[in-house]
Parts: sequence; C-alpha cells; structure tokens
Amino acid sequence: MSKQIQAIRGMNDCLPQDTVKWQWVEAALRDTVGSFGYQEIRTPIVEMTGLFKRAIGEVTDIVEKEMYTFEDRNGDSLTLRPEGTASTVRAGNQHGLLYNQEQRLWYMGPMFRHERPQKGRYRQFHQFGVEVYGLGSADADAEVLMMSAQLWKRLGIEDQVRLEINTLGSSDERAAYRDALVAFLEQHKAQLDEDSQRRMYSNPLRVLDSKDQGVQALLADAPALMDYLGEESKQHFSVLCELLDAAGIEYRVNPRLVRGLDYYNHTVFEWITESLGSQGTVLAGGRYDGLVGQLGGKDTPAVGFASGIERLVLLLDTLGKFDALPSGVDCYVCAMGQGTLSSAMALSQQLRSEAGLKVMTHCGGGNFKKQMKRADKSGALVALIIGEDELQQGVVTVKPLRTEGEQAQVSRDELAATLLNLIKA
Ligand code: ATP
Ligand code: MG
Repeated sequence: MSKQIQAIRGMNDCLPQDTVKWQWVEAALRDTVGSFGYQEIRTPIVEMTGLFKRAIGEVTDIVEKEMYTFEDRNGDSLTLRPEGTASTVRAGNQHGLLYNQEQRLWYMGPMFRHERPQKGRYRQFHQFGVEVYGLGSADADAEVLMMSAQLWKRLGIEDQVRLEINTLGSSDERAAYRDALVAFLEQHKAQLDEDSQRRMYSNPLRVLDSKDQGVQALLADAPALMDYLGEESKQHFSVLCELLDAAGIEYRVNPRLVRGLDYYNHTVFEWITESLGSQGTVLAGGRYDGLVGQLGGKDTPAVGFASGIERLVLLLDTLGKFDALPSGVDCYVCAMGQGTLSSAMALSQQLRSEAGLKVMTHCGGGNFKKQMKRADKSGALVALIIGEDELQQGVVTVKPLRTEGEQAQVSRDELAATLLNLIKA
C-alpha cells in the first residue's frame, strides 16, 4: 500500500463532530455583531507581502518569523494573511469606504502563522474580528468592548473571562516614553534576556510584555507610560473607563499591556481566560488611528479587535457547553418491503418542504434491525417506518428514539402535526 499523505502540521481538519460546535459558535458571533448593526467584509486570504510588512511592522513576531510567504509564478511576493486588520484597511482604502465615512465592519476566516503548534496555537487558525472606522472618540472603544462582553454572555462564559485594558497614548507621547524606556533598559542591559536585548532598540515597548520573569521583575522600576500622556490621551482613557463602569463591565488597568502589533495607539485591551493554560487570550484589540494613513489612505481613526475561534471552541468544550447541542436530524425515514422505497423518499421530501423538518432517508436497504441501528446513529429524535402494511393503509409508524413514548401508527394527514408536536416537546 502506498503511504498516506497527512495534513500539514498545525493545520487542522474540522470533522463532523466538531463542525456542529463551530457552527454554533459562529452563529453566536454573527448574531452578536448583527445585533449591533455591523456589516460583514470578506477579503482574499492572500495579499501582497508588503501590506503586512507595512501594517504590522517589520520588528514584530509575525513579520520576523511567522508569515507564510512565497513567490507567485510571476515573481510577486505573496503572503497568506496572518491577521485581518491589514486586509480590511487595504480593502477599505482601495474601495473608498473609509475617508470621511463611518464603517462598522466584522469578518471571520482562516489566518496563517508559522508558530510552534500546541494547544490553542496552530498554523492555520480562525479569527473573528470587528473594525470600526471614522470614529475617534472613546465611545467607539467602549462599544466594541460592550460587544465582546455581550458575546461572552451569549456563549455563557461571562464568568470565565476577564478584561485588561491600557492606553498607549498618541504616537508622539509614545515616542517620548520610548526614549525614557530605552534609557532605563540600557542601564539594566545585562539583566535582560536575549529577546529583550534585541528588542530594546527595535521595538522597546515589546520588552514590557516579555514572558521572562527576570525581565518582568526588573520592569517594576521602569518608567510608566501613564506619566507621559498628555491631557487629550488621559481624557480619552478616562471617558472609556467611565463608559465601561456605567455599562457594568469590570476591567483591570494593566500598564504592561502593549500588544504585539505596531499599529496601536490610545486604547489596547485583552480578554483573558485562566481555563486554557498559557494560551489564555481569547480576544484582543485596540485603537489604531495611524494605520489607514500608513497604508496610503487619508487619516481615519479606527478601533477593533480579533478573537481566536479555536480558543473559544476549546474553552466552551472544556466547560461542557456543547454537551446539549441538538443532533441536527429530526426524523429518520425507513422503508421496508416491496414498493416502499419511493414512498419513503417522497414522504421525506414532503416533510422537509412542508413541515420544515430535518429528515434523513435510509439508503441501502437491509432488515429492520440494521435500519433501526442507522436511525439511532443518525441522532434523529424519531424514526418513521413505511412497510408494506403501512403503505396499504396510508399510515406511517412513528417510533420515538430518545424518549420513552410508545411507537404508534399515524395517518399521513396527521403526520406533520404529530411530528412537530413530538419534536418541539
Ligand atoms: P498570542 O500572544 O497568543 O500569540 P497574539 O497577540 O499573537 O496572541 P493577535 O494577533 O492579537 O494574537 O490575535 C488575536 C487572537 O487570535 C489571539 O488572542 C488568539 O485568541 C488568536 N490567535 C493568535 N494566534 C493564534 C494561533 N497561532 N492559533 C490560534 N489562535 C491564535
Ligand atoms: Mg502571537
């Protein structure tokens, strides 16, 4: 036998027992964004490499070591999108959706990063995100956070996640702070780990969220960004805090929270769970007023977030939230005996179109035992049996599969109503 080809490491198949979970989560995400009036945007999975380099920043984990970049047949350098914001801004600029307009958008789809695969971290993963353009005020920041809080309620995990927020100020304020931080880090260079030493000049703010314990201890004495903020930035942040307080959303201000991407200013935030080990960030985002201009558009304020769907599914699964998901099949129709097959197929079709039921028809024949086994395996709530007797008398045998009820013969006329009663109960 020849060797089977396997899927690429870190890229997962989503098998039928899992797709039902994904569909449930995706429906909850769609409902939530829909209830806020946001509109969906879909962009290609592949973009010019330069887009991500410019948007995300050359000195970031993503661009330095995580992108799937390859040469197209005509020599262009292309990259599988590692995140959704750069593409959304590119599309917005290209189609004139952003300047002087207000857009509240959402997207969902696969992203690609060449990271070390582990629980909650994959090479193809899926993000759901929202992006708001044309609104520079803190109420927009508050709205996307309220939307995420609403989402946790919808998923039933509001007591499993906590919110951390911070402000990075304007780019000028950040530049002044950066100088002070670099000066501090230079004094303690010997105590920094290798990564932090490398980052201290190229992207010093990233040193703040270093995972190295020694570095974290050292940072207790580092200058604080808050001290470098001007009035406007402070005001923006305090309005956000007031709106969150008024909405009853709890949060912790974490002055070390800087986020991995270069493009953020003012508000940054993360929703974190303790139930997934070290891959605990389930949703992250912030304000990025400079990016639209940086990608060649006219300056447009923007705020958004992205959430990793794998982590949400994992979290919900860990908590047993999928245990009671409906099977997706209402009735399983069996045909037994001469001339019953076409009648069974016609009955199935009638129940689908007239009663709106989810109906699976048995295929492949076989005796009663075999057909009942299949009926059970399908997850259907009831089996419908058409044998030669039923055919002659114009009735169908209805056999409940998940409840104690007795099986009964029901006339064709009353069948739809009987089934709807049974299934709704
Ligand atoms: P992390 O610190 O976990 O690497 P990140 O800062 O790189 O996250 P973002 O780029 O902000 O993450 O992406 C937003 C969300 O997407 C993350 O909070 C996480 O839920 C999810 N995510 C990011 N990378 C992966 C991945 N490789 N596999 C699965 N989910 C991911
Ligand atoms: Mg990452």
